[in-house]
Amino acid sequence: MTGYREAVVDLDAISANVAHLRALTGTAHTMAVVKANAYGHGAVPVARAALAGGADWLGVADIAEALELREAGIGAPVLAWLHDPDTDWSAAIAADVDLGLSSAVQLQQVADASATLDCTASVQIKLETGLSRNGVQESEWAPVLALAAELERSGRVRVRGIFSHLSNASPAEDTEAIARFDRGLALAAAVGLTPELTHLAASAAALRLPAARYSMVRLGISIYGLSPFDDASSADLGLVPAMTLRGRVAAVRHVPAGTGVSYDYTWRAPVDSSLALVPLGYADGVPRQASGRAQVSIGGVLHPVVGRIAMDQFVVSVGLEPVAVGDEVVLFGDPASGVPSADDWAHAAGTINYDIVTRIGRRVPRSYR
Ligand code: PLP
Repeated sequence: MTGYREAVVDLDAISANVAHLRALTGTAHTMAVVKANAYGHGAVPVARAALAGGADWLGVADIAEALELREAGIGAPVLAWLHDPDTDWSAAIAADVDLGLSSAVQLQQVADASATLDCTASVQIKLETGLSRNGVQESEWAPVLALAAELERSGRVRVRGIFSHLSNASPAEDTEAIARFDRGLALAAAVGLTPELTHLAASAAALRLPAARYSMVRLGISIYGLSPFDDASSADLGLVPAMTLRGRVAAVRHVPAGTGVSYDYTWRAPVDSSLALVPLGYADGVPRQASGRAQVSIGGVLHPVVGRIAMDQFVVSVGLEPVAVGDEVVLFGDPASGVPSADDWAHAAGTINYDIVTRIGRRVPRSYR
């Protein structure tokens, strides 16, 4: 590594994870979800790696994220599903971005924008099936689907897909959501909508609920090599974690027993100790909640993070190990190589692995291999 902190992303691992998941799910289409800067991994390189691994769709939350992919020259189908109330739809339509829509108002606005541009916008209707977030409410399904069919006949929109999203609260509740989604699809068929794509499952359901797979799965966390489950590791699922977060020791201090460390002295050296300073902090996305609970690897040996994680730095107690300034510190990576995992950090911070990788800040350069 060149700098004193970096997130190394293994793009071959992403391609391999996609290929593995694609073979496992067997759906006609596979969407790689690359929103939020590809869960912190870097949207453009990850999108390319996922496409190389066999994904044929990309998914993002908002239009700005979709346009970032287009500006990088990525021409693969992209769906964006979360929009501001005052969204200007024209840039997305002109860039051939599929719009996930959740209301009659959005449908009408998109149809008006495509009329102005004199083209046909490609849309996918999102049905609410139990998450209580966006998506057309069940009471509105009939009129919204009828409007979509009418706008399709007018040539202003093409309804390429109908989709929803699961809570993953329990298999029974997800199965209820599947039944609700099927009712929505039947209603769509009754008004003459026969979309090319129907999709419901993100990683968890794609892996464990075959009935939720339909014609496409939308895979986020799993393509990054992380497990969506508490009871299964990456290795259990045949996935390889793609991100390694690492830094370098910036200083080594030898302190006598009783010395307090970092803010509030939440830790004092129980014996004479060697401490290594690591220049990464919560401004970089290292969760403060993991203070005193996480471990890092230095020279292949695990050491505890002691005292409070600060904005730019934290301290590691290195015992009697010969640690020197400049030594590499791995916060997390592929546990198969003996380093802590993103799951270990999630556990230490009381959060989920999604949060650990996505929060890695802009101050941390990404490098790719
Ligand atoms: N589909 C939608 C609509 C999402 O919002 C997300 C992420 O939250 C995903 C798919 C991917 O989910 P996961 O990362 O669990 O695979």
